[in-house]
Amino acid sequence: MMNTPYEHYDTRRINAIPITGVAQRLGYELKRAGSVWKTRCPWHEDRHPSLTLYERTNENRCHCFACGKGGSVIDLTMQHSGWTFQEACRWLCNEFCIPTTQEHGHVPLPVPKRVEKPAEPTYTYIPQEMLAGLVSVDNSLCQCLMRMFTPAAVESVAGEYLLGTYNYRDIDEYTVFPNIDARGRVCNLKIQHYDTEPSSLRFAHSDAGCLWLGSLWAKEGRLAKDAEFRSDCLFGEHLLPRYPMQKVALVESPKNAIFGALAFPRMLWVATGNKGALKRRVLQPLQGRDVLVIPDRDAIQAWTETIATMRDLANFVISDFCERQAPSCAEKFDIADYIQQLRQPMPF
Ligand SMILES: [Zn+2]
Repeated sequence: MMNTPYEHYDTRRINAIPITGVAQRLGYELKRAGSVWKTRCPWHEDRHPSLTLYERTNENRCHCFACGKGGSVIDLTMQHSGWTFQEACRWLCNEFCIPTTQEHGHVPLPVPKRVEKPAEPTYTYIPQEMLAGLVSVDNSLCQCLMRMFTPAAVESVAGEYLLGTYNYRDIDEYTVFPNIDARGRVCNLKIQHYDTEPSSLRFAHSDAGCLWLGSLWAKEGRLAKDAEFRSDCLFGEHLLPRYPMQKVALVESPKNAIFGALAFPRMLWVATGNKGALKRRVLQPLQGRDVLVIPDRDAIQAWTETIATMRDLANFVISDFCERQAPSCAEKFDIADYIQQLRQPMPF
């Protein structure tokens, strides 16, 4: 009669292998969250990282707050690949060079299951030449800026952010704000029109709704009808790899970023595009940077709370500048309003 192969494992040593190392070797992507790590849970259908990995003195385990399961290094390895206790130990000892005592022949080495990555949607990017054909300073925002700053400064900033001009229906000189990602791909183009009348109370403020050229061009047949555009790209993201050491200023609207870049050019200005876009996924390109966050007056509390959950991502400092500078009557007040107060438009 043949004896089944059997090995003795030093489970104390196995369970002392750092659990983050085991998870990584199994193919998990880890995200830091304060003093712990997060990854997708193998005990349940997990789309977000719900499994917390604890790796402290006297603690080397995982726990899922969504399904309540978790355990040791061996438990994680068993659950991940659907292995028996023996298979998990065999693989761990081999992978982390822990000696074993064999009896009755050799236990075969199992191969771990591959971690399935969530499918990424396939986005359509706007061809560079379609943007290149629009780049100019003839738009309504640059016209306003030319009354407050020197033309050379406006041209230089507009050139960095590749601002453009677009005429659509009955409105001429829409300002084109391209969302270009860190790899130089044009994710979408937002167009917005501004009041160019210097005596107007709404001078340099938008006087029509914004539009996205991606969906407009898809409707017109200039891009694929079923095109899907990436909406989570920071305005100014393409400048981050170009200026890796520069301090970043993070604001809400692209217009604020342009005003900021003109008035405070020592910082690299980027914008989320809207209040709700302050998300980890959107801010990922700011990883490891020094970032001054300047929320609009009506978003200070919400942004402060959100940034508090992302302290691991970058060195964020939040400024209540818009609260301190706002006239008491101004519910909405942003950094562009402040800069505009300092630079009364020249009435010619
Ligand atoms: Zn779970």
